[in-house]
Amino acid sequence: MATDLQIATRMIASQNPATGEILREFACATDDQVLAAVTRGRAAQLAWCDLGLRKRIAIVREFQRRLHEKKSEIADAITREAGKPRVEALVTEVLVVLDAARFLVDHVHRLLADEPVPHGNLATKLKRGRLVRAPYGVIGIISPWNYPFSIPATETLAGLVAGNAVVLKPSEFTSLAALELRSLLRAAGVPENVFQVILGDGATGAALLHSPLSHRGIDKLVFTGSVATGKRIAAAAAERLLPVVLELGGKDAMLVLDDANVDVASSAAVWGAFVNAGQACLSVERCYVHRSLYEQFLTACAEKTKKLRVGHGEDRETDVGPLIHERQLRTVEAHVEDAKARGARVLAGGARFPELGKNFYRPTVLADVTHQMRIMREETFGPVLPVMAFDSEEEAVRLANDSEYALAASVWTRDSKRGERLARRIQAGTVMVNDVISCFGISEAPHGGWKASGIGRAHGRFGLEEMVRLKYLDVDLMPGMKKVWWYGYGERFARQMDGFLDFQFARGLRQRVSGALRASGVLRRKQL
Ligand code: NAD
Repeated sequence: MATDLQIATRMIASQNPATGEILREFACATDDQVLAAVTRGRAAQLAWCDLGLRKRIAIVREFQRRLHEKKSEIADAITREAGKPRVEALVTEVLVVLDAARFLVDHVHRLLADEPVPHGNLATKLKRGRLVRAPYGVIGIISPWNYPFSIPATETLAGLVAGNAVVLKPSEFTSLAALELRSLLRAAGVPENVFQVILGDGATGAALLHSPLSHRGIDKLVFTGSVATGKRIAAAAAERLLPVVLELGGKDAMLVLDDANVDVASSAAVWGAFVNAGQACLSVERCYVHRSLYEQFLTACAEKTKKLRVGHGEDRETDVGPLIHERQLRTVEAHVEDAKARGARVLAGGARFPELGKNFYRPTVLADVTHQMRIMREETFGPVLPVMAFDSEEEAVRLANDSEYALAASVWTRDSKRGERLARRIQAGTVMVNDVISCFGISEAPHGGWKASGIGRAHGRFGLEEMVRLKYLDVDLMPGMKKVWWYGYGERFARQMDGFLDFQFARGLRQRVSGALRASGVLRRKQL
């Protein structure tokens, strides 16, 4: 029996993707452990909610202070486990979380406050309406490895400050970053069972959704990851009618118009495609350039790409680190090979970097790609910049919208009005004019996709709204009065109501006055 149990234990490992060094191994939480964590979270949530917003905000402020104090340590830990250059860990992970905390501290009071709802319909004027926001209870968060600190931390802070308990299942590749988050939150004053981390693989994540009938389970799930897993989660959630936020993959388009600054736009394309080794949901995955700038733009991108220093994230000179694991690299390789076979030109990179280690791939620029190639249709999630020419704005918009994904996009032009006009025609959760990716660092901006890129939002006001249930609170101001629409129907009442509708909605003054006269007396009629 003991042997059976040993065999059944699934293990996961945190590994340095640059060196392959195993940093730590963990046993996956069992289904029972997952359920027990949710139960503990539920029991702890009431006291956390009763603590009040002011005290929870104070805890978020203390978390922010501690994170700032330990910023270097946290950035080092992220780089070791996820491979990204140290400065990226600092800016795209630690800074994003510090600012998310700042946003909550500054705005959460106002954003979670009751909201008066004035009534327009005359029949409901004698009531006072308010929107009240109540925490869900226990929020489950399942997160990916590519931003192993900033994604779970921003979602967790919003969930906690709104009065929820949170159970986080981080990616099996980046457990250590989640444990860093846990120790910071605990030290800031978040009680042990209000924020819990359950470690494990996809099956552990699935257990967070599949609670037995006798068990209430989580009240909402915030999932960030691939479209394939997102679809599985949505199907499982439907069984329980569990509300979900799905932050899924992207294939972000970059449109470089004929009046763009080629130097600036090419630098943006290179950074946008290769930051985090191309493993960002908001990476530039497709680049469309007006034919008049095409060759000039390609030359600039190829030159800049060749200057990038690929290496270990810990090395301060590194621009591009390794991919997270070899499976990811094989996807990148397959997309590049497919493009090459179908006629794409390789202007830089186009191959692995075995001298550095098995997870390194050379930053790659591809020209003459088409929408028949996988590189332009599927999420590559690696350091590849495929570039295609277009002849008109119409064509550029059509190409940008020709994708099942719709997370974000960018438009590059010297004329921001023109850029904005085009941005409005692009199907995406975010469109930036003359910038890429940085929307993720704007704590006020909602982050989320259209189409297969997801459902719901993270960050800012709308991310906070995902963490609360809306309640409409209606208080009648005349408690001693029967409502006119209650029983006591009859021919006379029907005439009065007909008049009431005319009084409120008829276009002509005469009909309105006639309606008011017919409606009069309605308050004096006999009712049950
Ligand atoms: P993934 O879908 O493989 O895994 C994400 C998480 O889901 C992990 O924690 C994993 O253990 C868990 N999981 C896997 N199978 C599960 C199941 N059946 N039930 C429950 N949980 C399960 O994604 P990944 O490879 O970790 O991350 C990369 C993907 O995430 C890319 O597609 C990227 O675009 C996307 N992403 C999206 C955003 C966004 O905000 N839209 C941000 C970052 C990453």
